Amino acid sequence: MNNRPAVMPFTATLERERVATRPSWSTLRPTSPEPTSGVQMPPILEARDLTKVYALGKTTVEALRGVTMSVAPGEFVALMGPSGSGKSTLLQLLGGLDRPTTGSVVFEGKDISGLTDAQATRLRRERTGYVFQAFNLIPLLNVRENIALPFTIAGGVRDQWERVRQVIDLVELTGKERHRPDQLSAGEQQRVAVARALVTRPSVLLADEPTGNLDYTNSGELLDALWRSCDQGGQTIVLVTHDARAAAYADRVLVIGDGHIKEEIELGRRPDHSAALLIKRLAKVGL
Ligand code: ADP
Repeated sequence: MNNRPAVMPFTATLERERVATRPSWSTLRPTSPEPTSGVQMPPILEARDLTKVYALGKTTVEALRGVTMSVAPGEFVALMGPSGSGKSTLLQLLGGLDRPTTGSVVFEGKDISGLTDAQATRLRRERTGYVFQAFNLIPLLNVRENIALPFTIAGGVRDQWERVRQVIDLVELTGKERHRPDQLSAGEQQRVAVARALVTRPSVLLADEPTGNLDYTNSGELLDALWRSCDQGGQTIVLVTHDARAAAYADRVLVIGDGHIKEEIELGRRPDHSAALLIKRLAKVGL
């Protein structure tokens, strides 16, 4: 027996459950990943014994060999590990971008491992936000228009321009609303990508090496924006990174090696984001 929440099939309840009720960033009080009462909140996202085998011609690659993990609502989790260890594969499975070979992904209490393509598309559009290493902005659209793109594609909501304003404020791009991507620094462009991922108020933000193309200062500003969304807005974040400085923003770091989770490092919510403790712990596991 275990105390996991019941797993319901992922059905057309998505629309009804749209997260239109989340308040604005600025009006939210800081949230902690664990309630202080000692009662554990049910996870928002779970991987249960996930495996992923890629077929490559006549050979196969075992990218994940049995990963079990969970993320609490409002938690900031970093996935770290060497190149090829399975981080991106795991993130893609967690966000419904791909299906596991075996095992399941449970998102908000529902098994999403066997979604149809149409259901997976809806999940990605309405419940998850993605940020990649590449910014993927539309060159001809300005900052506001790029951020509003999810509404342009999937249909607008009544308060969409207020939401756009709030996320522009969150990523500190106020005053640059009319700039096109080529009129922004790399760091500013990636902050537009973060704002675009957050504007639909996803339940979980998944970020795959978002600082990979940024210098030290721009990385810091990007990570600060992610952290604000989590600490002030209660945004749940899963961040893939090989950079200890980025991972040090997280509440908890999962170290992946060879398709397994090898180590779990609890950092807690820390406004200073110092990487010293994490680097010490990583050295112990040979990273
Ligand atoms: P990481 O993000 O830690 O660098 P990945 O999840 O990208 O690792 O890759 C894990 C392993 O799976 C690697 O050996 C990689 O070459 C392989 N892999 C990833 N995607 C594919 C794919 N689409 N087809 C075949 N092999 C893949």
